[in-house]
Amino acid sequence: MKNIALVGAGRGGSALLPILNRYPDIKVLWVAEKDSSAPGLKIAKELGIPITLNYMDLLLIKGLDMIINLTGDPLITSELEKENKEGIDILGGLGARLLWDLVYTEKKREEKLYKKLELAVVKLNDMKNYLENILEHSADMIITTDTDMNIVSFNKGAEKILGYKREDVIGTHIKEIWFDKDAQRELMEKVIKEGDVSSYETRFVTKGDGYIYISLTLSQLKDDSNKVIGTVGISKDITEKKKLEKELIESNQELENFVYTVSHDLKAPLRTIDGFATILLDDYKDKLDKDGRHYLARIRNAASHMGRLIRDLLELSRIGKVTNPHTRVSVLDILNKVKEVLRYNLEDNKAELNIVSSLPSIRCDRVRMVQMLSNLISNAIKFVDKNKTPKIEIGYKDKKTHYEFYVKDNGIGIESEYLSTIFDIFHRLHNSEEYGGTGIGLTIVKRIIELHNGNIWVKSKIGEGSTFYFIIPKD
Ligand code: ADP
Repeated sequence: MKNIALVGAGRGGSALLPILNRYPDIKVLWVAEKDSSAPGLKIAKELGIPITLNYMDLLLIKGLDMIINLTGDPLITSELEKENKEGIDILGGLGARLLWDLVYTEKKREEKLYKKLELAVVKLNDMKNYLENILEHSADMIITTDTDMNIVSFNKGAEKILGYKREDVIGTHIKEIWFDKDAQRELMEKVIKEGDVSSYETRFVTKGDGYIYISLTLSQLKDDSNKVIGTVGISKDITEKKKLEKELIESNQELENFVYTVSHDLKAPLRTIDGFATILLDDYKDKLDKDGRHYLARIRNAASHMGRLIRDLLELSRIGKVTNPHTRVSVLDILNKVKEVLRYNLEDNKAELNIVSSLPSIRCDRVRMVQMLSNLISNAIKFVDKNKTPKIEIGYKDKKTHYEFYVKDNGIGIESEYLSTIFDIFHRLHNSEEYGGTGIGLTIVKRIIELHNGNIWVKSKIGEGSTFYFIIPKD
């Protein structure tokens, strides 16, 4: 321990005192200062250091190791040195000045840092207020809970959407305002296990016992030490979207029923037209001239095309109606079945079917999958230059949540402007004389993929072939 006394409590003293006070092995025993307005005096008082007006008194202190003269007055140093009987170190002149300079720069540096820190705190506070403001005034519902799932905060958006006042719900368990109680439990378990869950569709109870549909993103709330202290849920009101979805499903259903009935009813008159045209051609052949026979042949052709259209339309309207249970099947099995279905088509056109990689198993409606791939592959055989043999490649990529399959051909290709519309019903890029068809095949393909929660798209270059990609989620 070093015992020290200071002469001078001006700027130097006031800077040095707090710094010396921080060192545990230094103790300032006294301060000498004759000017009662010196700024260091206040600090000395706060630190409990006694003050004397006469610096010569310092020589009388017992156990003192050093006197530091901060006044810059050499006379004081020499006077102290003269009377120094106890062998106390006297630091004055250049030594004290150096110490003063060091301390002064250190103090300035500290002050600067402190200012910066203060500014950062102000900024942080501004940011905090800004964020709190956004959360508070967001149109979305933002609710936080503690780890017991009791509501901790409830923003304006939540008040507006659900109709409760925050003081009525804060502190209550979240299940009180959650309509689907099972979903609540399931979701909480998921959040605890996985950290967060996004865009989860569920229902919340509104004031007055109604409910609304919401899309909820729930995350864990953590403190500075990464400990989970609750949850934060941000939700959007999707009631309107749900209503529209329901209406759309209903009107699609109606439309499908209509298409089904009409297509069905058209079958009988079409059969009659075709039947009588056949009779005319067979039994009245001699009574008709060449033109008459030609017109009748065209009637039969048109009737047969219409028959195909009706059959495809019926098939399309059946897709949503007639579903088979989803089972786990290997895609290779599905393709073997497709090969069987398209056997003559493949053989007649000398088509090569190349399965690139070992294919995975998927959960699907097997019959529909066979139908879907048969459509894609028969198109790949059909839309090829007459002087080329069709070469078809089938493969897949294993993505994290789904499989991405592709069917690639060496056909005539599709113009880029039609890439997104060819899945629309009756959309054909070529006339039926050149390449027969109804324009319903790819619509059926898309419907089947959608029924499996998948997606389909195509990439193509004219003259270089097309690649159809489709994804099927893993279960
Ligand atoms: P369809 O084959 O009965 O005409 P689709 O719905 O299967 O009807 O196909 C729609 C249109 O998309 C076809 O008429 C054709 O113009 C184009 N198309 C489909 N598949 C291919 C393909 N692999 N290559 C080139 N064009 C294709």
